[in-house]
Amino acid sequence: MSAATRPILPTPALAVERLALLSRLTEGLPPAELYWISAWTAALAAQATRVALPAVSPAEAANAGSADRLTVLYGSQTGNSRRVAERLAERATAAGLNVRLLRTGAYAVRELAQERYLALVISSQGDGDPPDDAIGFVEFLNGKRAPKLPQLKFAVLGLGDSSYPQFCAVSRRLDARFAELGAQRFAELGEADVDFEVPSAGWSEGVLAKAREELRAPAAATANPRPVALHAVDSTQHGREKPYAAEVLENQRIVSRDSAREVRHIELSLQGSGLRYEAGDALGVWPSNAPALVEDYLRALRLDGEQEVTHDGRRLPLSRWLTHERELTKLSRPLLAAHAAASGDAGLARALEPEQREALARLLDTHQPIDLLRRHPVSWNAEQLVAALRPLTPRLYSIASSPKLVGEDEVHVTVAVVNYHAHGSEHFGAASSFLATAGDDTRVPVFVEANERFRLPQDGSSDIIMIGPGTGVAPFRAFVQERQATGAAGRNWLLFGNRHFSQDFLYQTEWQQALKDGALHRLDLAFSRDGAAKTYVQHRLKEKGRELYAWLREGAHLYVCGDATHMAKDVHEALVEVAIAHGGLSDEDARGWLAELLQKGCYARDVY
Ligand code: NAP
Repeated sequence: MSAATRPILPTPALAVERLALLSRLTEGLPPAELYWISAWTAALAAQATRVALPAVSPAEAANAGSADRLTVLYGSQTGNSRRVAERLAERATAAGLNVRLLRTGAYAVRELAQERYLALVISSQGDGDPPDDAIGFVEFLNGKRAPKLPQLKFAVLGLGDSSYPQFCAVSRRLDARFAELGAQRFAELGEADVDFEVPSAGWSEGVLAKAREELRAPAAATANPRPVALHAVDSTQHGREKPYAAEVLENQRIVSRDSAREVRHIELSLQGSGLRYEAGDALGVWPSNAPALVEDYLRALRLDGEQEVTHDGRRLPLSRWLTHERELTKLSRPLLAAHAAASGDAGLARALEPEQREALARLLDTHQPIDLLRRHPVSWNAEQLVAALRPLTPRLYSIASSPKLVGEDEVHVTVAVVNYHAHGSEHFGAASSFLATAGDDTRVPVFVEANERFRLPQDGSSDIIMIGPGTGVAPFRAFVQERQATGAAGRNWLLFGNRHFSQDFLYQTEWQQALKDGALHRLDLAFSRDGAAKTYVQHRLKEKGRELYAWLREGAHLYVCGDATHMAKDVHEALVEVAIAHGGLSDEDARGWLAELLQKGCYARDVY
């Protein structure tokens, strides 16, 4: 910020030297960091004031200020809801409101009965499930113990994917439930699809406007303004919207040549990026679509890639829209609907009918947009095409390295390359094929997506159990490296599964070395296609149920990473069976016990 654009402030309460120091410190900082500093100094001020206040009970302290405070809660699986909530809290803080920001897992539900203004941003997963971190909150609210909430004004925003039948089911249920408990909406239920930025910004705007109208500024608050629990703002310039162009250090196939699927280990340089990560975090990758696929689209619609297209206030050549800005490999429900209308195809229109849910899910899963364009031709012009296709979104890969072992300047990921033949042509996944072919002259646009819910126990003497079939093993390579680097005394148990021992044993030599070095204490393997019957990690888990249950009872932390649709659910059911068989629990108690472990963060899942 230049001196000319600095805000005009009232006469400073600071001595000239301190003011000069502060000016130097804040020179050139982006708005997010300035907001963070303002929240931090407000928290310091609150602490200083508190010393002079009469003692208050913890309950009073928790609720004091709730009359003029906006609580922003989020339930987030991949970080999108968290980002929306953070932005809302930052803007409300900047507007002078008394705000606190919490993840649902960290919110004491008993405070609901005193809460006055609550904004909740929450995503829905696959079949309409809440994010893991929000399970306890959702269950409490839906349960018999939920208090009446006549004092509460609330606003809910749901994030989801409209290609799933249960689109935004969690937010819809919670919005209705708040109302049922007597609370009043201060903003209408908002819903945001995969391209959530615009609708969520609109919803936040409405919430903020209403909150400004209704809430008093902190100066008028009576006691104990709580500091905004903002996440530490990434101190770098690079992030989701401004990725770092990372150099490829290593890009290597890690399954045997005869494996039916290609899995690659990729090492990227973060040198000079300022990006920092921890074991458990994910690496966001902004892919580019392959030139051959862009050509396929242009050919199918007989369009010219050089043609300039204006969309959302931006003007770019069509080929650039298609290469860097639009989702070409994932078919979505809105695109199918647009295509059905444009082509007038009755079969496609039928697939969108409510009773066709399963057929629709299958269709979306087995087709890419190009298959529709070829099979049911439409005559979209360039503007219509850009408007119909979804914005390209970054892909998240669980990080497979620990900065404590490999150094902060590099990051590793494990990538299963999506590549199959269907409908008469080869099909590729956008990011995995982009990464698979990334070489010395490629720069990969990346950012770090923090994953606070998926962290090693702080106490290094705690044991850990890691369940990660397929590429789900990636974060466990990071965990084992981290525990090795920090000399953690706890035991590490890995359950890994894949198709064939001789072809798909990801990081085999590293695990064997780790066993020798004492960095890995147990390794159980399930190769699904080596025997007559399928063997999965959950079969091993049940076979070793007695020990597994004992480890958990002694405080081991349990982690699951990989496929959310089938694997994570089946593993959960196997854990229920283990608790029944070896802990003598009833089905209900076993489920309650696991829910408690999830709530406490001793059982963490990184699945999608
Ligand atoms: P994959 O080939 O889909 O599966 C790996 C192994 O799991 C195979 O042996 C497979 O057996 C087996 N499997 C299939 N169904 C199962 C079930 N219900 N329970 C337990 N095991 C089952 O593996 P992948 O493609 O490498 O990746 C796994 C999945 O994890 C992908 O969906 C990926 O997107 C996801 N993933 C998520 C994260 C994350 O959320 N952070 C990270 C990495 C990967 P068969 O094929 O023989 O049936």
